[in-house]
Order: sequence, then structure tokens, then C-alpha cells
Amino acid sequence: MGNDGGSIPTRRELVKSSKGERTSSELFEQNLLNATFVWSTCILSKKSLQLPIVSDYLGRLYNKDSVLEWLISPENFGDGDAIVPHIKSFKDVVELKISKDENSGKWICPITGKELKAGGSKFVYLPECGHVFAESAFRVIDTDNCLECGSMYSKANVVTINPTTKADVEANKARMERLISEGLAHSLKSTSNKKKRKNGESSKEKKDTKKGKSMETIRNEETLRMTTKVLESVQQSINGRKRSEAVQDLYLKA
Ligand SMILES: [Zn+2]
Repeated sequence: MGNDGGSIPTRRELVKSSKGERTSSELFEQNLLNATFVWSTCILSKKSLQLPIVSDYLGRLYNKDSVLEWLISPENFGDGDAIVPHIKSFKDVVELKISKDENSGKWICPITGKELKAGGSKFVYLPECGHVFAESAFRVIDTDNCLECGSMYSKANVVTINPTTKADVEANKARMERLISEGLAHSLKSTSNKKKRKNGESSKEKKDTKKGKSMETIRNEETLRMTTKVLESVQQSINGRKRSEAVQDLYLKA
């Protein structure tokens, strides 16, 4: 999988968007047609694709660590907003489980042995488990279970990797539209996560509260020390007055 299938856009080229020039997303779309590029390069980091690899609903491939970096420090990616505006959390990607040929180390379909490569067979993955197959494997074996791990999958959720036909591109997009209407992310995890977000917030609040409490505790301790000192001195003065009153009394009584 060499990068010999045409020009590889540099990050600068991809972010070029001044008047009259193609925008980064246009350039990006154009380069999607450059099959070698999309099959060999993480289109987010422009680094060579290396396992672990994740994929979005469009069937594009990314290095997992690049996506992680994107999520943590988006400012490190000049054109990230144009390329992966839809990746806002790890729910928006699925980690792929790609079989390797033991001898060549090439990525292959575990059933048909076909190589996962530019210009090769149509490859798909099952978002339920992440296993990757040549689509033809399912023509041979018609099953509702993953051919590798046996877990149930839905045919409606199968994602075409780097689709090259308009029909496959549209199918990936239509699937995502359906998932959105069902409140699901590409990874089939719930997007509504109101409960989770609430939990998240409450745990954050808890953390903040904890932090607040500890700060408060420190402040309270300080206040307590100060107050104690003041009270002690007041007490002393009261005691003193009492003593003096008592002494006076003694004198008066005397
Ligand atoms: Zn599987």
C-alpha cells in the first residue's frame, strides 16, 4: 500500500481556502477519490494508517490515536473541522478489528482472504463488533451473526469502508440519518445520554464540590483558628473583667 496513486495533499493544501480556491472540504472530497490516499493514510493526521484504526459513519479510516488527539486538542489539526466535524466523541467512531495475513502481514478478510486495499474488493465492517470483511464473504455465508465473533449484527448497520460508488456513499449516510432519528450514534451507543450527561455533570459537580469542600475546609479551618483566637481573647477579656469584677466584688464584699 504505497502512496503512489497520485498526489497526496499536504495539510497546507487542505486548509487553503482563500477566494477563488477550493475550500479544504472540496479538496478533501476530491482527494477521497484518490483511493490510495484514503486506504493508506489517516485522513485526519495525514500519517500512515496503523492499527488500532477507527472508522466513522462515512466509512473513512483514522488512526485511533489521531482521533483521540483530535478530541483532546482539536487545535492541533488545522483542517480537522473540515474533515471530521462529525467526530465529537468516541461514540462517533468504531474501532475496527482487522485480520492480518500471518505471512505477509497484510490486512485481509478472514473469510475470503481478500486483501483490504485501494482498488480491491468492497470491504465492510459490522459496527456491533468492529469486525471487517470483504462484502463477498456475506454472499457466501448468509447469517445474522458475525462471521468472526458470532455476535448478532443487523444488515442495516453494515458500513462500507471507503465507499467508491454513489450508492454506497448514500447508504452510509442514510444509515446515519436513521440512527440519528433513533437517538443513536454511529457506534450504536445512545446519543440522548441525558442520564449519562446528568451523571457526568453530577460527578463533575461532585468533583467540584469535593474541591470546593476541601477549599472550604481549609478556609473553615483558618476561620476556626482565627475565631478561636478571637474568642479566646474575648474570653480572656471577659474572664479578666469577670476576674476584675470578682476582685471588685471581693473588695466590695470585703
Ligand atoms: Zn465480530
